Amino acid sequence: MHPTNKTAAIDVTPLLAFSDNYIWLIRGPGDCAGTVVVDPGEARPVIETLDTHGLRLHAILLTHHHHDHVGGAAELAARYAVPVIGPATEDIAARTRAVTGGDTVLLEEPGLRFTVLDTPGHTRGHIAFHGHGALFCGDTLFSAGCGRLFEGTAGQMHDSLERLAALPGSTKVYCGHEYTVDNLHFARAVEPENTAVRAYLERADILRSSGRPTLPSSLELEIAVNPFLRCGQPAVRESAARRAGRALATTVEVFTVVRQWKDTFKRALT
Ligand code: ZN
Ligand code: FE
Repeated sequence: MHPTNKTAAIDVTPLLAFSDNYIWLIRGPGDCAGTVVVDPGEARPVIETLDTHGLRLHAILLTHHHHDHVGGAAELAARYAVPVIGPATEDIAARTRAVTGGDTVLLEEPGLRFTVLDTPGHTRGHIAFHGHGALFCGDTLFSAGCGRLFEGTAGQMHDSLERLAALPGSTKVYCGHEYTVDNLHFARAVEPENTAVRAYLERADILRSSGRPTLPSSLELEIAVNPFLRCGQPAVRESAARRAGRALATTVEVFTVVRQWKDTFKRALT
């Protein structure tokens, strides 16, 4: 098999950083000790894992400039002499290669190839990496939620999410944070009748109570449960219109109301 075959299987491990960030450690189909990390907010969990398992780091991928995603990049880059590949339009001191939507990231040794997607909204220059049936989407798409609008507009975030949702349904979704349970409580408030949300919440509660990640999710699942990908669904539109106290004509208006609703949502204590 060609070492950079796009569909060749990859092995992805979550490394916990801070309280709820995931650093994704990817092993490609090529050099079996070769790895790449996505969004190393801290260097320590990466160094420990590489040491423990005798793995080699080949590159660092960054989705956006926030400290909880880039904080460990400079230390890792210096220690392992690897490239730091990140969004072209963001100010990231450790970045050595700037990429933008449509670019291809080819990493020969671990045998990995990713396409870069522009996903502005959470930050202005946010990007995602797609390849090998996997999506590394940082703080754009969360399971059952989406990132806050710190720099971009609701319209930009809505478009970014649509772009991600257009990828194959089987695509595995590797997000930057473990927010799934809280997000599902909100999703249930938006769509009380959505049985997929209820079933997923039960599953996610079980996973979290045993300390396991809920991720990766899949795009198929996200399209069934994530209110931010469901703004065209009548149930979400009606719920958002009730919240806003007026009719909402477009899916961007629905998205805007749902995003503002989420910003102040407090889940009921159960
Ligand atoms: Zn962020
Ligand atoms: Fe973050």
